[in-house]
Order: sequence, then C-alpha cells, then structure tokens
Amino acid sequence: MIVDLHCHSNVSDGQLTPDALVRYADSKGIGILAITDHDSTKGIPAALSVARMLGIDLIPGIELSSQWRGVGVHVVGLGVDIEHRVMKKAVERQSARRQTRARDIGARLAKLGIEDSFDGAARLAGESQIGRPHFAQYLVEQGVVKDLASAYKKYLGAGKAGDIKSHWPALEEVVDWIVSAGGYAVLAHPAKYKLTRMKLRALCGEFREAGGQALEVVSGMQDKAVTQWHEQLCSEFNLYASCGSDFHGPATRWSDLGKMVPLPDSCRPIWSIWR
Ligand code: MN
Ligand code: MN
Ligand code: MN
Repeated sequence: MIVDLHCHSNVSDGQLTPDALVRYADSKGIGILAITDHDSTKGIPAALSVARMLGIDLIPGIELSSQWRGVGVHVVGLGVDIEHRVMKKAVERQSARRQTRARDIGARLAKLGIEDSFDGAARLAGESQIGRPHFAQYLVEQGVVKDLASAYKKYLGAGKAGDIKSHWPALEEVVDWIVSAGGYAVLAHPAKYKLTRMKLRALCGEFREAGGQALEVVSGMQDKAVTQWHEQLCSEFNLYASCGSDFHGPATRWSDLGKMVPLPDSCRPIWSIWR
C-alpha cells in the first residue's frame, strides 16, 4: 500500500482543492494520506468526507513553521485534533505571524525597488495562506524575474531579502502545540535544511527532548545515502519514521503524490500507530 504523509492543497500553496487532492490520491492508489497544509487545517473537514467515501485513510495534518538556532525548520503534525483549542490558537497565531512576515517581505522588496509586492502577493494568495510562493509568482508576473526559480535565487531563497524567519515560534513551542492537540510531531524533510551532520544530530536531539516523535526519513525521491543517514538518526534518537512526497500539484512533475523511495526495513513506520 502507498502511504503519503506530506502534501499540500490550495488552502496553502498547493494547486488542488482538498477535495480534488483526495481524489487524486485515490487515482494514484494511495491508502493512507495526510494533508499537511502550511499553518492551516482548513482543508481537513472537506478532505475527510471525500476520503470516507473513497475508503482512504485520511490523517488530519498540518505543517508548522518554526525556528531553531536561526534556521527555519518545518514540523509536520499528524493525527492532530483540529478542533482542539491549542490547535485552533496555534493556527490563529501562525496566520497572524504569516501576515506580518508578508508585510515585512513586501517592505524589504520595496527597498530594492520592487513596488506593491505585498498587495500583489495577497491578491495571488486569495483565500490561501500568504507565503513566499505568492511573492515568487508576483515577481514573475511583473517581469522582475523570468521564472519562479530565479525569484527564489535572487529575492526569496535562503539568505536573500525575502527570507525572514524571525517571526516564527521556537521549535519546542510548535512541537508542544502538536502534542497537546493529540498529534505526533514529525521533523519534516531533514535534508532540506542543509545542516552539517553534527548540527542535524543536535536538532534531532532537541526535537526528541521537546516531545517530537518522528523523523521524515523519506521526502520524495531522494538519494540512498540520505535515506540511510536518516535511518541512522531514527535509531539513534528512538524516533518513528514518516514518509511523504511534499506534493504541491500535478504541474511539478518531479514530486508527484505518492512518489517516493521506500522506507528502510529497520524503520518503525509512524502509521503503524493507527493500524
Ligand atoms: Mn509549500
Ligand atoms: Mn516544508
Ligand atoms: Mn511541505
């Protein structure tokens, strides 16, 4: 059975509606799916009713932004009670922070001579949670850059003007929100932070200490060496293993839903908890 525990609907920066995302998962033969929109659980109720109809196990999820030693770190919450007051409060706070951050990104880009990017990004975001992808779209739309990749490379990626992490809560805080709301905290895509082995080890240790329970051992199609390194971290820190494509939409072909390398045999899959 295919398990995908990390993907996005258009409630955050994905392309498909929650409803369409579950149907798409069904067409890909996925048996257990978690929708993990950035800082929002808005898509879960609609997704749950379709999933029930199609016989897919839908795990209510969220991907929360946090910071750890100045690094932006994402924590996926799986099996959270979306009606829990702590989770509701968390979503509210993250959403407010996201707005402030977006205004700051807009101000920084204005200093570089790019006008009205906040309004532009907000328009492109519509009902979704505003984020860097909307700024990237705006920069392409205005002809400031030729494509999305250049938007990140020049303005929004790590170390660039639009890369603002300071608004996010500490790692321990978001782990606590997830656990308080009855969920499991998963350290998302560990390879994406480009940390040294020593630093990633420190991050795993502190994450475990804070109450984190799993590592996203597999994130889409990744190298064997990366998978083995994550497997080692799981056993060292006694963490469950999760896997997910981080799918954002059918247009991005390199990361299709359900498409990822298998979890190593020695790993304890997090979904064994629900089955
Ligand atoms: Mn995203
Ligand atoms: Mn992420
Ligand atoms: Mn993601």
